[in-house]
Amino acid sequence: MLTIAVSKGRIYEEALPLLAEAGIVPIDDPKTCRKLILATTREDVQLVIIRATDVPTFVEYGAADLGIAGKDVLLEHGAESLYEPLDLNIACCRLMTAAHKGAPEHQGRIRVATKYVKIAQSYFASKGIQAEIIKLYGSMELAPLVGLADCIVDLVDTGNTLKANDLEPRELIMNISSRLVVNKAAMKMKHEAISALLIQFEKTLANR
Ligand code: AMP
Repeated sequence: MLTIAVSKGRIYEEALPLLAEAGIVPIDDPKTCRKLILATTREDVQLVIIRATDVPTFVEYGAADLGIAGKDVLLEHGAESLYEPLDLNIACCRLMTAAHKGAPEHQGRIRVATKYVKIAQSYFASKGIQAEIIKLYGSMELAPLVGLADCIVDLVDTGNTLKANDLEPRELIMNISSRLVVNKAAMKMKHEAISALLIQFEKTLANR
């Protein structure tokens, strides 16, 4: 049995067609079914649909053999203990700084609200900017509006969320897409099954 951990939401939706090409179609719809482990049309593959930030943990500990997670989450987690053999090119977006529209560039030490504490720390350090990083778990856009932070570090896709909150994108930190990650022990123990799946995903991606 192969267990694949997939990030809930946007990544899961975009991974579905890719999984389907490999014959992996969940039998139940996680939106309507409360099961945490989803059987699929492939008897040897099951899915666990979990919070994005938990995917690297499940794969690292071997609770899942493979995982699908955003590069943002993998970098923040520190995924050196995982193999990352494939860029799936799904759920593409940008990790950016953003600030109140028209706000002047902050001088001196800045306050940054984000859930990406490690990434933000190393980004501002690499630019020689002193930053106090404030960890938030959601609604980052609120922070500059209420004076909690000078800017935020968050994912931007269409830019609509920023615009709706009177914020504007400032600097691109990196382009983000979802990656396939593999548990190192599983890569050895289940080599045949995992490499067959990798080849199938590679083929599908090449035809896109
Ligand atoms: P948008 O309004 O299209 O720029 O989307 C921004 C909002 O969606 C922010 O709250 C982001 O955290 C979230 N978001 C954008 N792209 C992704 C992605 N690929 N994966 C997860 N969340 C995303």
